[in-house]
Amino acid sequence: MPAPTGQPAVTEPLDLPSSVEVVVIGAGLAGLACARRLHRGDADGTRPSVVVLEAAPRVGGRIGTELVDGYRCDRGFQVLNPAYPEARRVLDLQALALQPLPGAVVVATESGPRVLGDPRRTPPALLPRVLRDAARSLGGPAEKLAFARWALGCARRRPAELLSPADQPWSQTLTEAGVDGELRRAVLEPFLSGTLAEMDGSTSRRFVELLIRSFVRGRPSVPWSGMQAIGDQLAAQIPAIRLGVEVQRLEAGSGAHRVATAAGTITARAVVVATDPATAARFTGQDEVPTRPLTTFWHTTDVPDGPDGKDGADGTGGAGSTEGAGSGLGRFGATGAIHLDGERRTPLANSVVLSASARAYAPYGKALIATTIRGLASADPTEATSEPGVRRELARIYGADTTAWELVRLHEIPRALTVMAPPLDVRRPVDLGGGLFVAGDHRDTASIQGALVSGRRAADAVFAHLGMTAPRRERIGEG
Ligand SMILES: Cc1cc2nc3c(=O)[nH]c(=O)nc-3n(C[C@H](O)[C@H](O)[C@H](O)COP(=O)(O)OP(=O)(O)OC[C@H]3O[C@@H](n4cnc5c(N)ncnc54)[C@H](O)[C@@H]3O)c2cc1C
Repeated sequence: MPAPTGQPAVTEPLDLPSSVEVVVIGAGLAGLACARRLHRGDADGTRPSVVVLEAAPRVGGRIGTELVDGYRCDRGFQVLNPAYPEARRVLDLQALALQPLPGAVVVATESGPRVLGDPRRTPPALLPRVLRDAARSLGGPAEKLAFARWALGCARRRPAELLSPADQPWSQTLTEAGVDGELRRAVLEPFLSGTLAEMDGSTSRRFVELLIRSFVRGRPSVPWSGMQAIGDQLAAQIPAIRLGVEVQRLEAGSGAHRVATAAGTITARAVVVATDPATAARFTGQDEVPTRPLTTFWHTTDVPDGPDGKDGADGTGGAGSTEGAGSGLGRFGATGAIHLDGERRTPLANSVVLSASARAYAPYGKALIATTIRGLASADPTEATSEPGVRRELARIYGADTTAWELVRLHEIPRALTVMAPPLDVRRPVDLGGGLFVAGDHRDTASIQGALVSGRRAADAVFAHLGMTAPRRERIGEG
């Protein structure tokens, strides 16, 4: 196994150049993808001079990992889908040592847990239960068939085919497809609420169908050493990144831009604004694309039976009981399956024992559990959003005694997910004219894939502005 990378070193914002060809503002995945491509050079291998300015003391933006007493707490529960085509182009997925999550979800219902999964990707411990539950409640056969037809249709079609029909809220699409019963309410809506940070079905059908396509084609995973490894891998290919440098102002001049920071001003022929959507709107004058908040609670508990805490999930657990809670993770927690609240009593979106899939996420003998709720816990302080309240809900959802679970870290992310409202244009312009460019998930899709694609598109537009020929698109697996 590769050695854990830990936190990237903080560099001092020394020696800002007074002038470069390109300044990239923001070292999130969009800015990193853009700077990496520029630094690799044009079609002839000629490299423009590039500097990346990042306000935070680390790269990666919204994708990252915090090390807390030997636990790897990603900055909110987040996963990389290795089916994302742009990730396969620009990332060395093998070096990330991806740890896949099982292709199954456990849904807490009034009549007990139901396990749903793709039999090809279900862990052996869950398979009998998946096959048994396939025939039981959570939607009648017609709804299940309609769902399978819709999801497989998303997976089979090329992205262009998913994008071409008129857009609409995804709730309308599901209704038209005949997915409008218990399966939708108890499984699909809670499942997607963690990915979209909404429960009203208002997100673009185009975005949701692209997501479903990825879920069916690839297994969501986390890198061995945490999500921070993604940004670190890209950053290692870019020589000039200045951390802890916040851009304060952008001034357009004739043929050049002045980028003002507390550490000095840089003049550049091209500036790529690769910040969060709100800052991008401030710097570019474009409309602000709204975002939605999420909160993730990271809990730990002992796993006396070893690092996996496997307690032989055999699918015989009782309804919402603590039966089988020997490992402290309930009957199915130790399988690493995502747990959902089919009754939707609280803002809880999902919960997962992440260390069951990614061993390096917790010290030996401990489990690390990520629980995400919609909204900001501190902005809406109720019983349901309090730590004890969340832990009580988790007792019901896992069928486990959670009184001894300890909070390791709380991540409140006010601008977590970029809103993808219909009609969604997944190729919004990146070249704003006069040497000003914009990249970020708000230009494409609210995902790692979208951020990486927007970075590539912005880099190619910069090459054209500088009178250079963009190199060919990298082949899948070339990163
Ligand atoms: C909790 C959570 C879970 C998620 N889960 C998933 C998931 O499972 N799968 C998935 O594909 N996507 C997921 N996403 C979405 C994904 O993280 C984003 O779509 C993507 O990372 C956005 O990248 P970006 O580069 O566009 O923006 P950001 O990551 O926001 O990067 C912008 C960068 O600009 C910097 N910056 C801002 N202002 C300035 C300034 N004035 N000067 C200098 N620097 C500045 C910021 O510090 C930041 O580093 C999740 C996001 C969150 C928060």
